[in-house]
Amino acid sequence: MNRAVNLLIPSLMVLGLGVPGMVLAQPEVILRDGEQMRVDLVGSGVHQVADGWRVVLRMSNDNDFPEGVLPSSFRRWWHAEVGGLNTETGERLHVEVTNAGYSTTILPTWSLDNGETWTRIPESSMPVWDSSTSTHRFTIDVPPDVPQVLLAKWYPYTPAMFEAYRQGRLLPHPMVNEVEIGRSEQDRPIYQYIITDASVPTGNKARVWVHNCVHPAENPGYFMVEGLVDWLLGDSREARAVLQQTIFCIVPVANPDGQYLGNYRTNANGVNLENQWTAPYNTQVAEVKALRERIEEFMGEPSNPGESPIRILLNVHAAHGSGAPFHFVHRPLYDANGTGVTEEVYQLEVKWVDFLRERSPFMNRGSDNWSVLAGRPFVESMMHDRYTIHPSETWDPVMAITIEGTYQAGPTPGSIATQHDYRELGEAIGWAVSDFLELDLEALRTSLSGGMAY
Ligand SMILES: [Zn+2]
Repeated sequence: MNRAVNLLIPSLMVLGLGVPGMVLAQPEVILRDGEQMRVDLVGSGVHQVADGWRVVLRMSNDNDFPEGVLPSSFRRWWHAEVGGLNTETGERLHVEVTNAGYSTTILPTWSLDNGETWTRIPESSMPVWDSSTSTHRFTIDVPPDVPQVLLAKWYPYTPAMFEAYRQGRLLPHPMVNEVEIGRSEQDRPIYQYIITDASVPTGNKARVWVHNCVHPAENPGYFMVEGLVDWLLGDSREARAVLQQTIFCIVPVANPDGQYLGNYRTNANGVNLENQWTAPYNTQVAEVKALRERIEEFMGEPSNPGESPIRILLNVHAAHGSGAPFHFVHRPLYDANGTGVTEEVYQLEVKWVDFLRERSPFMNRGSDNWSVLAGRPFVESMMHDRYTIHPSETWDPVMAITIEGTYQAGPTPGSIATQHDYRELGEAIGWAVSDFLELDLEALRTSLSGGMAY
C-alpha cells in the first residue's frame, strides 16, 4: 500500500485552475510499506516554484512516535519516493529535509530506476545545513523519462534486498546453514547463518559471531556483512581454508521490524535494543532474547561449555560525527574500578584493530573511539563479565567489539563512500579474522566427503 500526499492538485482543482487538455505533472511524496522508507507525510509535500518544485521531506521519529518520546538523535533516517514527475522534460527538485536529527553533511542517494540501482546524487548537489531550522537543503535535476525518483539519506537496504541476497547467495550455498534463532516483536524471523566447511569436524574450530542491524538504518553494516559473506563463499583457496578452521555465525538483520518500518535506531516498540544488554538476562525484548539465548547456547555453562565457544564477536553499526569507520576500543580499567575491560581483553582488541587496519585502508583512515562500558551496556560487556572473567577459566577471553561505519567519507582522501567500499571492508574483516586467529591459509584439509576441493 502506498501512502501519498499531494498538496497542489486539490488546491488547483478547488480553484478551477486546471487547463483543459493539458496534462499537469504533479509530483508527490510517496511512502512504500516495507521498503525502509520514512518521512512524516503530514509535514511533507511538493510545492511549485519558478524553476521546478520545492520538495519538503519532513523527518519523522521511529514508529512515527510523537516528538519528545525518543531523543532527536534517534531521528536520523529518511527515505521516500517523489513520484509523478514530468517524463518529457525532467524536473528540477529543490529538496528540503526538515526536522532533521543530524547536522552531518551527507551526500544523499537516489535511484532513477525505481530502486534497481542506487548512487549518490551528483556531488555538485551537496546539501547545505541550516541549523536554525534543522534542515538539509539540496537541488537535483531529474532527467527525462524518469517518472519517480527514490531519495534517501544513504544507500537503503530493504527487506527485499536482503531476501534477494538470502535466496540468491545464502540459501543455495552448501556451506551455509540458515537457523531461525527467534522472532521479532512483530513476528518476523530472525535468521542466523552458520557458515563453515562442515566436512571438517567442529572440534577445534574457532567461532566468530557477527550481528548487524541492531540499529536498523545504520546501513553501512548490511554491506559490510554482504562483503564478508561474499568473501567467505567466494571460492578462494584462503577463504576455504578459513572455513575449515572457523564457524562464522552471522545475523545480518537482528532487528527486522525496525528495518521493515524504516526506523533508524529502535524496534517496533521504540526500544533501543543496544541498551537492553545492561540487563540481558531479564529482558523481555524478543530481538535481544533471540541473540542472547543463541550466544548462551554457543558458550555453554561452566559445567558444560560449548564445543566451539565464541572467540570473536563483532557488533556492527554506523555512526555520525566521525570521518571514517572506527572501532570502540574499551579502556583496560577493569581491575581498577570495574569499568572497561581487563588488560588481556584490551590487548586482544588492539590486536584485532591493528589487523583490520592492515587489511583495510578504509578502516585505517580513521581514529578509534574509546568506551569504558560504564553501566555495562552493549553485548561486549556481557561477553566480558559473564564469560571472559569467569573464575572457572572455562572460556578463553572473547574479543568482542563494536565496529562502526560512517556515511560520508570514502577510502581515499576526498572520496565519498559507496556500498562497494563497505563490501570491501567486510571482505577485509574476513582476512583480519584469519590474521587474528593465526589460521593456516596454506593448509587446506582433505574433504571428508571425498578428495581435495582444490
Ligand atoms: Zn548503532
